[in-house]
Amino acid sequence: MVRPLERLLVRLPNWLGDALMSRPLLHALRAAHPAAELRAVGPRELVELLAAARVFDQGHPWPAGRSGRAALERTLRAWRPEAALVLPPSFSSALFARRCGAAVRVGFRHEARRALLTRALPRPARGDLHLSREYLLLGAELGAHAVPLPDLALPAGAAERAAALLAARGLAGRDCAVLGPGATYGPAKRWSAERFAALGRALAARGLAVLVCGAAAERATCAAVAEGLGPAALVLAGETDLAAQAALLARAAVAVCNDSGLAHLSAAVGTPTVTIFGSTSSAWTAPLGRRVRVVQHAPVCAPCFQRSCRIGTPCLEAVTVAGVGRAVDQVAA
Ligand code: SF4
Repeated sequence: MVRPLERLLVRLPNWLGDALMSRPLLHALRAAHPAAELRAVGPRELVELLAAARVFDQGHPWPAGRSGRAALERTLRAWRPEAALVLPPSFSSALFARRCGAAVRVGFRHEARRALLTRALPRPARGDLHLSREYLLLGAELGAHAVPLPDLALPAGAAERAAALLAARGLAGRDCAVLGPGATYGPAKRWSAERFAALGRALAARGLAVLVCGAAAERATCAAVAEGLGPAALVLAGETDLAAQAALLARAAVAVCNDSGLAHLSAAVGTPTVTIFGSTSSAWTAPLGRRVRVVQHAPVCAPCFQRSCRIGTPCLEAVTVAGVGRAVDQVAA
């Protein structure tokens, strides 16, 4: 039996997908400690995205510079957190929790940070548990257990910004599909632009406008898909903030993405989502959502977790346009 907490700090993951896979933990903490003041620290866009669900009372953006971090540590030390959950595996995030003065500091053993944590749990082998379940192991140390997971709530104004963007491109009221052909991790997670384009043509033939989305750095990849797709395609890579991107996904009839933050965002808002996996493990990081299909043809070498492949990514070559099309039909049914 864990006594009710009054002040609880959570250091969020730094990546979009990981942060969305921490949602079950955040909802579990809220349910287990309804009277506690929960504060979360993480990248600004992720804190703002997750704040709409009211699973924490205050979010603190992670400051870029050393002086900003020292100021945040002073602020949180004055607040006197009783416990801190440290989700990133880094040494610096555990050090941050200790400098904030949390008496109980829970995280996984990693990077020689055991001495900084008061409860350093052994981490399961990659893929033995889904990452969201790993995070819940940390929460269980504070009496938090899984509760039903709602769809991700959209931040205020996000739906309006998405609608305005589509209206400005002549797509007001159009049914749309989203393609996410990027994956920052590397080419071993990226299905080919040609196949994304072929899939997009099939979706366009059903009367859908096809939004090709991603980060600004993925614009060239998205443009290559759009070029092969024709006039039904609209490239929106880098043209939205994260909240407006979530709202665009929430409007979509279906989204097809590589294993990327975009796939996790789509699944989280409840959109029918097909995710294509290459070198990574769907058992570990499949997107969480009500309507998700994973397409993965894992050869004996998978999952290798490599960013690029020396043998021509047969794991991705085996994923056909027809196979992904069938997954689209199943998830959208
Ligand atoms: S080594 Fe195997 S799993 Fe890894 S990227 Fe290449 S084909 Fe895919």
